[in-house]
Amino acid sequence: MGRGKTKRILILGGGYVGLYTALGLQRKLRGGEASVTVIDPQPHMTYQPFLPEAAAGAIEPRHVVVPLRKTLKRCHVLTARVTGIDHAARTVAIEAPDGHRETVEYDVLVVALGSVARLMPIPGLAEQGISFKTIGEAIFLRNHVMSRLDAASSTVDPELRRKYLTFTFVGGGFAGIEALAELEDMARFATRYYDNIEPADLRWVLVEAAGRILPEVRESLGVYTVLQLERRGIEVYLSTLAKSFEDGHVMLSDGTEFDSDTIVWTAGVKANPVLASSDLPTDDRGRLRATATLRVEDVPDAWTAGDIAAVPDLSRTEEDPGALCAPNAQHAVRQANLLARNIIAVLRDQEPKPYYHENVGSVASLGLHKGVADVYNRKAKGFLAWAMHRGYHVARVPTFNRKFRVVADWLLSGLLRREVISMGQINNPRAEFDRVSKG
Ligand SMILES: Cc1cc2nc3c(=O)[nH]c(=O)nc-3n(C[C@H](O)[C@H](O)[C@H](O)COP(=O)(O)OP(=O)(O)OC[C@H]3O[C@@H](n4cnc5c(N)ncnc54)[C@H](O)[C@@H]3O)c2cc1C
Repeated sequence: MGRGKTKRILILGGGYVGLYTALGLQRKLRGGEASVTVIDPQPHMTYQPFLPEAAAGAIEPRHVVVPLRKTLKRCHVLTARVTGIDHAARTVAIEAPDGHRETVEYDVLVVALGSVARLMPIPGLAEQGISFKTIGEAIFLRNHVMSRLDAASSTVDPELRRKYLTFTFVGGGFAGIEALAELEDMARFATRYYDNIEPADLRWVLVEAAGRILPEVRESLGVYTVLQLERRGIEVYLSTLAKSFEDGHVMLSDGTEFDSDTIVWTAGVKANPVLASSDLPTDDRGRLRATATLRVEDVPDAWTAGDIAAVPDLSRTEEDPGALCAPNAQHAVRQANLLARNIIAVLRDQEPKPYYHENVGSVASLGLHKGVADVYNRKAKGFLAWAMHRGYHVARVPTFNRKFRVVADWLLSGLLRREVISMGQINNPRAEFDRVSKG
């Protein structure tokens, strides 16, 4: 790459990979060696593993996001959406929140745009469904679930009441199971404040196309989780496909039909489709083709990591030569740390190092005091797994400020019990003003 003028490093996406790469660069770069710019439509990084607890009210939503400008003091942060990449010309097209478009030039590119929900052509999904990936969705779902209890409590129509109190989740991976388990826990707790809703009136349904849930842990823990959910009254449909959600009427492949006013779609992710508007090489599943050193394959000055990248998993190549790293935070953080070191190595005419990490396992929360864990080949269930989940993630959430606030939230909700209030007005703040202004 050679020495000389200050290089302009441009990081697309300020999530796990974007934030940790920028942190590594701002810590290690010498003055005048390179400038770092991060582009993301959100002014914050989202710590996604805490979204289920934010939705359930155990953690204040603001505390599961990390402000980029406050954390990346030596970087420049642009709040905009990337709409295209012309790497041959070393430019990126962006769209600001007000809709105006600009072009940003760079010398070195880091593509860390993550993944988006993988949708299916199911009637009604686009209109009725919501995914669970952003802090906005977590806040919406919390308010929505609570507002369904309010609505059900305020009607005498039994069919409407049944629809309001039926909550459907599609997809049995980590995001879906944790979101379902946390929200069910919260809603069951909240029923004590309603004189006409019993816990048994709530209907929670999980639909999964595969024959098991939680592929991130061993099968026995997946089976244990299904039994735990069923013991709580949650209906689990395995090896079942959702066929239609039209007008909130759910139809499953086994013939089951019911009305549901809440449909949460967590059936997998795919690489950010912005890549279709770029001249960078992608694989058959739309992921950016990457080398083990986290360079974009056969392209100079371009790097990538995280959910958007097809990074070889060197820890598994003996058993499977084509093995790729799974899209999870464990890889994203470690890849980002190496990515920062490799970029600096190349800036200083040194060799970049390959990424190697052996999976250490996974932890998941299933609501207050309940969880499953499969870490370092050891299985844990119940309270122990739940405590491991909290311990692991509070150690991992970036910045001391966020760790402190999350622990304070846990202590407060432990002392004062969880907050169960619907702030559904947030979803339509102009409604009252519009009503008044129309007379
Ligand atoms: C609810 C939930 C729970 C999870 N729990 C776990 C867990 O317990 N353990 C685990 O290992 N993994 C977990 N994951 C997965 C983990 O969060 C992801 O693997 C990780 O976030 C990937 O990091 P990334 O940087 O590639 O993507 P992200 O962290 O998603 O970052 C991508 C960034 O790109 C930005 N972006 C998107 N489009 C554009 C655009 N056009 N222009 C500019 N910026 C853009 C986004 O705003 C985002 O900030 C969970 C995911 C979810 C959704």
